[in-house]
Amino acid sequence: MVAGHCFCEACRRSSGTSHCTHAMVPEAGFALTGTLTEFAKPADSGNVVTRCFCPTCGSAVLSRNSGMPGMVALRASSLDDMNLLSPNITVYAAQAPAWAHVDESNPVFPAEFPGLAEGKLPA
Ligand SMILES: [Zn+2]
Repeated sequence: MVAGHCFCEACRRSSGTSHCTHAMVPEAGFALTGTLTEFAKPADSGNVVTRCFCPTCGSAVLSRNSGMPGMVALRASSLDDMNLLSPNITVYAAQAPAWAHVDESNPVFPAEFPGLAEGKLPA
């Protein structure tokens, strides 16, 4: 499973800190009960990112990126056990604030994952 940190402006603003952490899961193997509120906005890449929130408490649950059809970016904070994830990639590191810790032990990209525009995902 691809799990990673994103330091893009939208993630920083929605998290209230330096980044968001997501797990990429195939939408076909994912089930959601209940309804979510959605907010769609073009990302720096030009892809449209749709962020989905709990309509009651506002907690971020997941997002979809038009550059990754069929995949859901599940927000780590929505998991009952965040230790199920082992983040293995960092994107938009060039937008990280100077005080943020960027884990250099995994692949780090200054912007989006290269190849995303061609529909490739990190291995
Ligand atoms: Zn982001």
